[in-house]
Amino acid sequence: MSKVAIIGAGVSGLSMANYLEKNNIDYHIYERRTPNDLKGHGFILPKEGIEHLSSIINIDDLYTKGSFLKKYLHYSQGGELISEKDLDDVFVVSRSALIEILAKGIPAEKISYETTVALNGFSHGKADITLDENTPLEADIVVASDGSRSRIRRTIFEHETMKAVLENEVVNIIENEELASQIESNFLKFHHENGGLTFGVLKLSPSKILWYCQFDISKFFINEDYTPDCIKQFMQDHFGDWNPLISSIIEGSSYENAHIWRVYELEELNPFYHENVVFIGDSAHPLIPFTSQGVTSALKDSYTLTQLLLEGNNLQETFKKYEEERKPEIEIHIKNGRALLNQFLLPLSEQPKNTLPISYK
Ligand SMILES: Cc1cc2nc3c(=O)[nH]c(=O)nc-3n(C[C@H](O)[C@H](O)[C@H](O)COP(=O)(O)OP(=O)(O)OC[C@H]3O[C@@H](n4cnc5c(N)ncnc54)[C@H](O)[C@@H]3O)c2cc1C
Repeated sequence: MSKVAIIGAGVSGLSMANYLEKNNIDYHIYERRTPNDLKGHGFILPKEGIEHLSSIINIDDLYTKGSFLKKYLHYSQGGELISEKDLDDVFVVSRSALIEILAKGIPAEKISYETTVALNGFSHGKADITLDENTPLEADIVVASDGSRSRIRRTIFEHETMKAVLENEVVNIIENEELASQIESNFLKFHHENGGLTFGVLKLSPSKILWYCQFDISKFFINEDYTPDCIKQFMQDHFGDWNPLISSIIEGSSYENAHIWRVYELEELNPFYHENVVFIGDSAHPLIPFTSQGVTSALKDSYTLTQLLLEGNNLQETFKKYEEERKPEIEIHIKNGRALLNQFLLPLSEQPKNTLPISYK
C-alpha cells in the first residue's frame, strides 16, 4: 500500500492517522505546532461524531473529559425562557482534550511536530513538497488537513475567494467550581432582543465551563489588539447588564486564554482533490461555527477516505468517489449554517421556537 503524508494534526489529520494506523496503511503526520500547544476552546459533538470516534479511541476516555448535554434552552438576554428542546446524545468537550486523546493512538515515530510543510508545485502528477523549506518529502498520497486557511489549498486553487462571515466569536474555558455548580448539564443560550448578539454556556466538568459570545461584526467592534484586557472590556460593555448568571461568568473569568474567532468561509467550495493531494476537514470545507459540524465532518471525511483507499482502486477514482460521497452533505451543512446565521441576526421576537444550534443533514 502507498505511503501517505498527512499535513496537520488537528482533528481531521489525527483522526485520519488513527484510521490508517488501525488499517495498517503506511503514513506519517507533520504538524507545525509543538505537541503542547493545544489552544483551548471546545467542541459540540452530535451523536454521529461520537459514533465515529468510538471506532478509533477508547470512548470512555472521552467521556471522562467532557459531558453530555440534556437540553437546549434559549433565553432572552434578561433570562426569560423563549424555547427549550431535548438534545439527543450531544456531547461537549474541550479541543485540547480531544486532540490529546486522538494523538494517543499514534506511535511517536509517526508524528513530527514543529515541522511546516509547503507545496511548491507538481511534477509528473505528484506534489512537490518540502519540510521546513528545505527537506523534500516523498509521498504517494498527500492528505491536506491543514485547516480552514490551508496554504496547500491556496497554492493549488489560487483564485479561490475566502470571505469574512458577518459573525465572530469570543470563546473561553474557565475553571470555576462555584459557577459550574450553577449550570446543569444543559446548553444555555441567551439572545439580545435586537438580534446579532448571543451568549452561550455549557458545562464541561464539575469544575469547568465553556462559554462563548457571538457578535455581528457590522454592529459590534472589538479592539484588534485582542489583549485579555480588551476582550474583558468588550464582554463587560456588551454583556455586563444581561442575566446575573452571565455577569458573574464574565466577572469570574480569566481572559488569558480567551480566544477571538474571526470566521471566514469559502465563497465556493473547491474540488476536494488535485493530482495526488486530497483535502479533509476544514481545509476541504471550512464550516461556520453555527453548524457545530466541523469535528463530525472531519471524522466522516477521514473515515470515508480510509474505506475508499482500502478498496485499492486507482487514486483518481478513489478521490473522485470520496468527493462524490462527502460534498453533497457538506453543501447541506453550508446551507444550514447560512440559515442559522440569518436566524442569529433576527430580533428575539422573530426567533423560531423549535430549532437547534446544530446543522443536521
Ligand atoms: C468559533 C468556532 C467554533 C467551532 N465550534 C465547533 C463545535 O462546536 N463543534 C464542531 O464540531 N466544530 C466546531 N468548529 C469547527 C472545528 O474547529 C473544526 O472544523 C475541526 O476542528 C476540524 O479541523 P481540522 O483538523 O480540519 O483543522 P484545524 O483544527 O485547523 O487543524 C489544522 C492543523 O494543521 C496545522 N497546520 C496548518 N498548516 C500547516 C502546515 N503548513 N504544515 C504543518 N501543519 C500545518 C495547524 O497547526 C493545525 O494543528 C468551530 C469552529 C469555529 C471557527
